[in-house]
Amino acid sequence: MTVYHGCNLNCRYCYEHRANKDANSMDFEVARNIITHFMEADNGFDNNEFQFFGGEPMIVFPLIREIVDWFHTQSWKKGHIFFICTNGTILTEEMREWLTQNKQCVAAGISLDGNKAAHDIGRSNSYDLLLRNLPFFKETWPTQPAKMTIYSETIPYVADSIIELEEMGLYFTANIVFENIWGNAKQKRNLLGMYKKQLLRLVDYYACHPHLEPVGPLLQRDLEYINLPNRKIKVSDGDCQRYCGAGHEMVMVEVDGTTYPCHRFAHWITNRTAPSAPINIQKGWKPESCAQCNFITICPTCAGFNWELNGDTGIRTTYHCEAFKLELWASAQLQAIRLGQCEPSDLLRLSGHEKNRIKNRLEWILEFAGKEL
Ligand code: SF4
Ligand code: SF4
Repeated sequence: MTVYHGCNLNCRYCYEHRANKDANSMDFEVARNIITHFMEADNGFDNNEFQFFGGEPMIVFPLIREIVDWFHTQSWKKGHIFFICTNGTILTEEMREWLTQNKQCVAAGISLDGNKAAHDIGRSNSYDLLLRNLPFFKETWPTQPAKMTIYSETIPYVADSIIELEEMGLYFTANIVFENIWGNAKQKRNLLGMYKKQLLRLVDYYACHPHLEPVGPLLQRDLEYINLPNRKIKVSDGDCQRYCGAGHEMVMVEVDGTTYPCHRFAHWITNRTAPSAPINIQKGWKPESCAQCNFITICPTCAGFNWELNGDTGIRTTYHCEAFKLELWASAQLQAIRLGQCEPSDLLRLSGHEKNRIKNRLEWILEFAGKEL
């Protein structure tokens, strides 16, 4: 639920620049009706997760508290969890106290784009504000990953950022954006060269810290699902999988109660009317360059961005293509090193399924990891 369109920051890559600021915050009645609808709907789901989204939802903390407190006065047949997507910079004593009391059913996830140098580039110099509150988020929801978004200006800081977050003991994910951040051909070549160096530094770092889980999804690409030539998955109608839950398990509700498959489909982002159902069901691999690609079975794609740019949720944007392949290559290098670090006794304890996964990974590593990209 987008509960508020305003924000105390002005992040560089945020869609909220395009939002209609006249319709700013959700009314309690709208939230109550939506929640009641989904908690009572006979739709096959026994549990609902309600996310408070913005802008910065903590600016309307009294509304969030009113919604959750009301929710707990009712009796429901379905399970629930509330989640707050926040920039983590606004946290009063009152908020801390309420969040701590409700942490079993209200979780919060922060956006943290790396170390201070990287974070401050695009997120309104808010690193110091966030750092002050970081221990609270880390201690209250230790298994909730912070989200590190990578874009052109932060590529030079990727390795330093990830190493710093690991040294802080933070649980986090890192991913590069789908958008065209690459500039002209020369700029793109330079950025990709820089990204490759950053990834190789991270391969070295994780190789030297075998107790650490490599950061996902960046260095945890699921190599065993790649469509190798000797394991050709039939790429035709019916074989395509959805990458995300937009329009299926997921519904986004605007401040005025309008629904979209996910926030990326809002008309003020795409300048298009959202597709009518069924949406986000890929009927064939498109474009042709992707249809011929062995990595398509694991390559991420954003249905909303596809819709915005191509007018079809199933026609993929490919700006992230080369960066994604570098991540695969680095993941393969790291997994090869990690397999070499296994004790023989550990390998003997693996189940048949796990051995099969390793065999599939090895096929891929042998095929790809040594190649020069
Ligand atoms: S974007 Fe690139 S890596 Fe992804 S499926 Fe298309 S061609 Fe393959
Ligand atoms: S459509 Fe894009 S933004 Fe929305 S859930 Fe899917 S991947 Fe995420």
